[in-house]
Amino acid sequence: MQQVSVASTQGLARDIASRRSDFPILAERVYDKPLVFLDSAASAQKPQCVIDAIKHCYSHEYANIHRGVYWLSARATEAYEQARSKVQRFINAASAREIVFTKSTTEAINLVAYSYGGSQLKADDEVILSELEHHANIVPWQLLRDRIGIRIKVVPIDDRGNFLLDEYVKLLGPQTRLVALTHTSNALGTITQAEEIIRLAHSHGAHVLLDGAQYVVHGPLDVQALDVDFYTFSGHKLYGPSGIGVLYGKADILSVMPPYQGGGDMIRQVTFEKTEFADIPGRFEAGTPHIAGAYGLSAAIDYLTEIGMDKVAAKERELLDYATERLGEIDLLRLIGAADKKAGIISFEVDGVHAHDVGTILDREGIAVRVGHHCAQPLMDRFGITGTVRASFGLYNDKTDVDALVKSLGKVQDIFG
Ligand code: PMP
Repeated sequence: MQQVSVASTQGLARDIASRRSDFPILAERVYDKPLVFLDSAASAQKPQCVIDAIKHCYSHEYANIHRGVYWLSARATEAYEQARSKVQRFINAASAREIVFTKSTTEAINLVAYSYGGSQLKADDEVILSELEHHANIVPWQLLRDRIGIRIKVVPIDDRGNFLLDEYVKLLGPQTRLVALTHTSNALGTITQAEEIIRLAHSHGAHVLLDGAQYVVHGPLDVQALDVDFYTFSGHKLYGPSGIGVLYGKADILSVMPPYQGGGDMIRQVTFEKTEFADIPGRFEAGTPHIAGAYGLSAAIDYLTEIGMDKVAAKERELLDYATERLGEIDLLRLIGAADKKAGIISFEVDGVHAHDVGTILDREGIAVRVGHHCAQPLMDRFGITGTVRASFGLYNDKTDVDALVKSLGKVQDIFG
């Protein structure tokens, strides 16, 4: 029998420079032009090993998990739990019990807001967010505010998109119970000062949730070294499948949280009078999960581990520097966001041209970028704009992609100039 871990690590000893060929979709042509994919921050493309792992699951090992006594079910259960252990090692959590599979970052944050928020917070307790947040880390807290009356405070950023630590310190107080911040902004690429933020929150007795949807792709992560209380991310941005995400939570905190949803697989004993819930993490995983998604995520983690997240980060930094320089040379282009520490995400405006028009012209050249508010409308408001054009890099991008972008932006200027 072929094991997923073996299948997913085949032929991974090559240098990062040649990774492009691992992603079959990048051989596609659009409008009869080579595809230049610069939208990995929205969702990354999948290497062949991830596609193979999902196919392997459905072709050879698929059955519902945790309940079956037969071989297939036991095998799928084992693979699902192996995926959990793999996530644990990837982010250096203390125990696999601390890894809850969700469908996404969005669901992970909603889980914390509903379960932790609903049980551990009360009216007038304060939750601190920042201007950098994705809607996924704003709306769940507003729902909680409307439900139980918490207060939301917002840390401002400066004109370059830096998280303002001094302003954060001013907002911390005796009522602060939770700090929920992005680790990396999806719209600007800003990497926030997680170590300092967590240390300061803890010194005020507050817990910290980091939305790591963008950060986890960009470099090594050690949740124990960070001492973060909750960490969330999505499989699909990590070169894995969509429909599976992760909530990391410290075991002692998860253990006092009630279930988020009720149903099968999250119970120990059910009668019509009462239900005894399963221990963590099963308590938070009601119903049939994304089984094949766990196979795919597992393969994606193998793939990234084989390359080394430090190498992924180094390559991305090089490309970011190159793109910042090249785009900076274009007249009428205004970069939005120049934080001290950034991931491979560049947002910009072209003077006098609507972001959607820029995106459409680039599309006809085979270049996929994201345009609009990037699910960060308060951040757009902060800059007095309605949206940006955003290019974001994955480990398959190289300087030729940046060159293609710069060349096609020339066409935008020709058309609107
Ligand atoms: N937070 C950040 C910073 C993001 O970039 C995203 C995805 N754009 C999300 C949260 C939400 O992720 P998902 O849609 O996978 O739930």
